[in-house]
Amino acid sequence: MEPTRIAIIGMGKIARDQHLPAIAGDAGFSLAATVSPHDRGVAGVPHLKSLDDLLANGPAVDAVALCTPPQVRYDLAAQALKRGIHVLLEKPPGATLAEVDALEERARKTGASLFTAWHSRFAAGVAPARAWLADRQVRQVDIVWREDVRVWHPGQAWIWEPGGLGVFDPGINALSIATHVLPHSFFLRSGTLKLPANRAAPIAAQLQFRDTAGAPISMDLDWRQTGPQSWDITIETDAGICKLTRGGSVLTLPGGTEHSEDREYAGLYARFATLIRTGRSDVDTSPLKLVADAFLRARRDTVEPFVE
Ligand code: NAP
Repeated sequence: MEPTRIAIIGMGKIARDQHLPAIAGDAGFSLAATVSPHDRGVAGVPHLKSLDDLLANGPAVDAVALCTPPQVRYDLAAQALKRGIHVLLEKPPGATLAEVDALEERARKTGASLFTAWHSRFAAGVAPARAWLADRQVRQVDIVWREDVRVWHPGQAWIWEPGGLGVFDPGINALSIATHVLPHSFFLRSGTLKLPANRAAPIAAQLQFRDTAGAPISMDLDWRQTGPQSWDITIETDAGICKLTRGGSVLTLPGGTEHSEDREYAGLYARFATLIRTGRSDVDTSPLKLVADAFLRARRDTVEPFVE
């Protein structure tokens, strides 16, 4: 079978760190073009300044990976789907929930595959954690996602703008794991968002959820962390503790600890290839719903201005 000709749209940090190597390492895809307003692209691959330009003047593509900030994703995705081009949406899949619903409907009509790519679900510990938890009784869950925004998001103005999610940009990865591994769905009970006086998005959040079986789930997100960073989920069950650390890549169960090689984006592209081959979409907005609920239901405190 011929490889799927794919274009990366939005040549920023994640496109270079993960999408380029994942596409290069997957025989099911060939990189046909890159698109970005200010970037120069990759040697030997056609580069265009906009999706309009790609569709009008670039090489033919079967699929696009949208690696732009979420605020501009809808128009790009809609334009591609309209032409029957398969679309991988980086996380979060959109700036609003309704726009992702609209994209799903459009994909259904055109027969193109739409994939809301939650990369953290492909971290090594996540699938075995999900299997282990499937028939356990969960008693309590603690999510701690604390990182230094100056290290991980230097100069990214969009992340602080409405639709950029602030500290939920990394925090939604924890929610993508929790919604995937926990045996019951859960919902927000209360919480606090901390917004710097000079920014439109939160720098920290403390949230309390409860699952449908009554287990409490706490979430502590903070972008002001210095020193060691924390991307940990601790799940207390009737059979002992299940702990996912380092963003889901390390799993500790009562029997011991499993470390595996990072294959998140390889897993993501393998899944995208399967969806394209079988003519299906995979659209899940459950992590984004929980973030939207935090903006609806949590109280807001103003904290000191953020200095880059
Ligand atoms: P970034 O470094 O700011 O890159 C975003 C890129 O999108 C920019 O380089 C910009 O291109 C391009 N862009 C903006 N508008 C565009 C448009 N209309 N058409 C084409 N390209 C456009 O951001 P990032 O960190 O890569 O994050 C992008 C997305 O990936 C976010 O949703 C984020 O949550 C997700 N993500 C990021 C990471 C990470 O570690 N950074 C990890 C996983 C997922 P120009 O520079 O050419 O203007």
